[in-house]
Amino acid sequence: MLTSYQLELPALNFGEDGVPRSSAFDDVYFDKDAGLDETRYVFLEHNQLSERFRQLPAKQGFTIAETGFGTGLNFLCAWQLFLETAPQDTWLHFASVEKFPLSKEKLQQSLAMWPSLAELAKPLIEHYPTLCHGLHTLFFPEQRTTLTLWFGEASEGFAALNGTVDAWFLDGFAPSKNPEMWSDELFQNILRLSQPGTTFATFTAAGIVRRGLKAHGFEVQKVKGFGHKREMMLGTFAPSQDTPAVAQAAPWFAIKQPSNVSKVLVIGSGIAGATTAAALADKGIAVDVWEQGEQVACGASGNAQGMLYPKLGASDTPVNRFYLSAYLYANRFYNALDQEAILWQQSGLLQLPKSDAEHAKFTKMLNSQLYPDSIIKAHKQGLELPLSGWIRPQAVCERLLQHPRIQLSLNTQLQSLEQTQTGWLASNQHGRAEYSHVVICTANEQDALAAWQQWPTKPIRGQVTQLAVNHLAEDDQNLIHQVNKVLCGEGYLSPELDGQINFGATYDLGNDSLKVSEQSHRDNLAKLAALLPVDTDQVDLAACQGRVAMRCTVADYTPIVGPLSQHSELVTKYAPLRQNAKWQSDEACELISGLFVNLGHGSRGLVSAPLSGFYLSNLILDELAALEQGVIEALHPNRFTIRQLKRGEA
Ligand code: SAM
Repeated sequence: MLTSYQLELPALNFGEDGVPRSSAFDDVYFDKDAGLDETRYVFLEHNQLSERFRQLPAKQGFTIAETGFGTGLNFLCAWQLFLETAPQDTWLHFASVEKFPLSKEKLQQSLAMWPSLAELAKPLIEHYPTLCHGLHTLFFPEQRTTLTLWFGEASEGFAALNGTVDAWFLDGFAPSKNPEMWSDELFQNILRLSQPGTTFATFTAAGIVRRGLKAHGFEVQKVKGFGHKREMMLGTFAPSQDTPAVAQAAPWFAIKQPSNVSKVLVIGSGIAGATTAAALADKGIAVDVWEQGEQVACGASGNAQGMLYPKLGASDTPVNRFYLSAYLYANRFYNALDQEAILWQQSGLLQLPKSDAEHAKFTKMLNSQLYPDSIIKAHKQGLELPLSGWIRPQAVCERLLQHPRIQLSLNTQLQSLEQTQTGWLASNQHGRAEYSHVVICTANEQDALAAWQQWPTKPIRGQVTQLAVNHLAEDDQNLIHQVNKVLCGEGYLSPELDGQINFGATYDLGNDSLKVSEQSHRDNLAKLAALLPVDTDQVDLAACQGRVAMRCTVADYTPIVGPLSQHSELVTKYAPLRQNAKWQSDEACELISGLFVNLGHGSRGLVSAPLSGFYLSNLILDELAALEQGVIEALHPNRFTIRQLKRGEA
């Protein structure tokens, strides 16, 4: 477990020639005169990328992984070559690790040296992630590329990846100056992520790298190095009987199931369904979305104003890592979706303590410096989250679904789902259709899946209140006009929008009424009064508008996202877990081919859904996963059955 998500900045200086140089490693990031040529010679040519890109079959992806992202020069060169040579309907996935990431400013300054890369450097700089430990996914749909960046130690980053690499760029500072990076764990994970035919190229011919690769299944060849450098290495993964076995993930949390994707059906048009459909459509897949209601996002995603309010805790757990990376992803996602600040505004959010105990918790969290200031910082009233803000969730769902490759059908309810030889036959009240894949994003309505598995989810009623500001006393109106950040405490208040404020929400366990109630308005007014000193007693309840929806909450407060297995198969296959919770097996669970769930986002869907939807598109398209392995397991639909088995139940 980490004690801080903060990162050490690189000891980087620019020389008089403008070249970035590391004083810690006493080495340059690239050569001024020949940086581009060196990258092309070492990494692109010696992995035969031109030919391999050109020959990529339709709808295929190509995955490159790199040690040391640095200034992103290698990435940009590979990306440029891909766009020049690969067929139109193919995809590039580039994964890189970086322990000492450059600030955005230094990245920009470094890349300014390469005018021929400026067109691609621009979106990279624009989307470059907040400097924070963990996995960051940057998606460039127009340029058919996904960049997965691990900020942290290289070996940890590769251990977190789930997928297959086609070519390795083994870059880095001179191994003699940085031998720690070339650890046995790094090579084990390079092995784990390779398949026969995977290639590597590296600028170095150092023994530590050669021996590591040879011992982990690579055939290694030395050739003439670039320019004045004597030698470099390249090679191919060709495992033999002597290649060591490496530990794989727990078999009950398998996610891989290669299959042909033709058309995908997404059930539900809330934030989970809309983000899943959009991620697939952006990758060229035709998607049908069925929504049983009369309009998009009729459930919990249908409110006029919602907030980007992550659930960030005081310690590093897989669930916390999920919310952290999902939050940073969501911030980039909404910024890319809406540059005019109509659908979302990054106003920032103030989290006010609900009690003295919570105040003490905030102080402890700030003192522990778990988060960088760019994510959570001290504010005189509590905590400030500058990357948060408010969203129009229904309008976001509508915008996402207005995609030329998405066909939305309203008033269309899934009635049955039948597995066929090639996929799924789904029927609704109007007819039936065939799909290769189906994703269920229906929050509490899970009947369609009951034949395979059931989960401990619960509907919790939430009513929000909307009030025209002019129904408040004049002084209070002035107070409201000054609220320019989302306020969160016992409840929340979003900044005024079109003369209205939205606040709430109630949390009514065991109440399944979808009717707006006066009592709930009273509860929400009390929450408002706890956030701001406004006189809510004089508010006329008849002036309050409201909306009720059922959140779908999960017993472990974590969404359920991933592929499905048959409950009975898991129970039989992994029965020994009942006797011994530490029992291990090599036998992967059988996944119900082409069937996925994305639900249980509770009241945090605006944070958790965009990354979850993107991750599901990775599973359907058999791509490198955008979630770290520990997070994949924390969200996996099989986790409840496995936990029950380990407790001797089920
Ligand atoms: N590929 C880069 C480019 O295109 O700009 C240049 C890489 S630079 C020569 C080496 C990089 O490796 C540096 O950015 C350095 O911070 C990073 N690095 C060094 N040790 C590392 C480690 N143990 N884990 C992850 N990254 C590391």
